Parts: sequence; structure tokens; C-alpha cells
Amino acid sequence: MRRGATEIACATVACLLAVWTGGCGGGSEDGASDGGDTTRTIVATTPVLGSVVESVVGDSVEVATLMPNGSDPHSFSPSASEIDEMMEADLLVINGEDLEEGLEDAIDVAIDSGVPVFTATEHIEVREISRTSDGEEPADEHEHSGGDPHFWLDPVLMQDVVAALGPAIEAELGVDVSQGTDTFEDDLATLHAANEAAVAEIPESKRKLVTGHDSLGYWADRYGFEVIGAVIPSTSTQAEASSRQVADLSGLIREQGVSTIFTESGTSPAIAETIASETGARLVELDVEILPDDGSYITLVSGLTQTIVANLG
Ligand SMILES: [Zn+2]
Repeated sequence: MRRGATEIACATVACLLAVWTGGCGGGSEDGASDGGDTTRTIVATTPVLGSVVESVVGDSVEVATLMPNGSDPHSFSPSASEIDEMMEADLLVINGEDLEEGLEDAIDVAIDSGVPVFTATEHIEVREISRTSDGEEPADEHEHSGGDPHFWLDPVLMQDVVAALGPAIEAELGVDVSQGTDTFEDDLATLHAANEAAVAEIPESKRKLVTGHDSLGYWADRYGFEVIGAVIPSTSTQAEASSRQVADLSGLIREQGVSTIFTESGTSPAIAETIASETGARLVELDVEILPDDGSYITLVSGLTQTIVANLG
């Protein structure tokens, strides 16, 4: 049942959502194109989650990913047709922990409208965010309200999520995906073992990370690394670093002898280059939230690990 939100002139997400929360007052006015289409659709918010869901379901279910690959999940804002897509999902798979900042209102409306929602971070132990090293209040209010959303860089936590996702798909869509779930859990175990073998080459003294935003905490915890700091000292790319925080980070990099700053899509090149020239550290771009050309989550995490090892080893 479509409410035709796309046909109503709305300039803001709030307006579009008002249509869905009853603003059009009409209920199911549009019964057209109901030709017995039984295609079941799972809508995933991020490309990473879309890839994982596809791996689990294979061809048995249609999977749509809301955010285009390459967009920043922290700032993505949905269009009218994307809101329609969410409201019509048989299951909506989201990351949670404030990753989808620009989708929060739309997700709330989807839940109120009865769309079943699977929240990945409800199935893991969420990493708590620590305050900035100088004891200042975090720059971003979101830091008070939740933990670190970037769990997907830890394949062991992804196994927990996949183990819960399979039964959720079966319950909501009536499709048995146990074979896909088992196979993908094995792939995740293989990925984790390969990562462990790769990082074993890095001596303890070099296991220090500086990143674009605070995105590698789970990966670092899993593989025995320490995150010294980030160009944007927040788990959201939407925060900004103060000049004092930038100076503090440069000091830490020099003090700890960090050789590489891993920037990400969205990291301010000006700030990163300033820190690099002050410290002598080199800049290396890392994909954290963007899938590689083959569209595979496994390749993303494996490639990220190899890039870190190649530059710190
Ligand atoms: Zn992020």
C-alpha cells in the first residue's frame, strides 16, 4: 500500500515524514498495481549491511540498500522515494547507535507504522565511547547518548549479528536462510583468522592508530591495537575538531612515534595535511564505510586490515 508520498510537494524530510504519520489523512487510496506481486524485500540502510544481508539470503529475497555506496552514513538524508522504500520493507535492517543520524526520524516512523526493524548493534556488546583525552566535553551531543556504531570492522561481532539476523529473516519473511547464515558465519571465521595472522607481523610498539574519525575502535580492540587519536575526535564525521584538539593530536603523534595517519573519505584534507607536515607522519586513505569494487563486506575488512599491516609493518 503506497501513500504516494513522492507525489506530494515536500521540500524537507520532516514534511515527507508528516505524510507518513497521517498528514495525508487518506489511508490506502492507491490500490493500483497490486498484481499479486509476492516479492519480499529487505531494505538495509548502509552498503555494508546490504552486502551482509545479500550474503545471508542469496537469491531467496530481494535486498535493497538505501544509502548509495560512497555516501557518508553519518550524514545521509533520505529522499521521498527512499522513505517510501523504507516504509514498504518486509524487514528494515539498520546499524543503530546513531550511525544513521539523518535517518533517525524516518526509522522512528517506520517502527510506528509497523515495519519490522532489525537493529544490528542490539546483538553485540557495544563499545562505550570515552571522553576526549584532555577531559573536555565531547564536541558532539551524540557522544552522550550511545556507544560506538562501527562494529562491522570486527568480524567476530559480525558473527553475533548474523547469528541473530538469520532467525529474524525467517520470522518476518518466512524464508529459511539457515544455510546462507552458516556459510557466511564460516566466511567470517576465515576472515578473522586471516586478520589475526596478518597483524601478527606488527610489533607491539607499532600497534598505534590515528584515524580520520573515531571509527577503528572495535577493530583495534579485537586485534590488539591502540587508537591514539583521530583527526575528527568523534565517532561521528559530523563533529569538528577544535584547534587545540588538532594541536594535541600532533603532540601525541610525535610523542608516540606514530608513522601513519589513516584518513577516510570525508576527512578534512587541510587538517590532515597540517598534522602530517607538523609531525612527519604520512597520510594513507582507508575505506571504512565504503565497499570495494566487488561490493563485498569480506573484501572491505580484509583490505582494511592489509592496508594497516602494510603501512605499520
Ligand atoms: Zn563513521
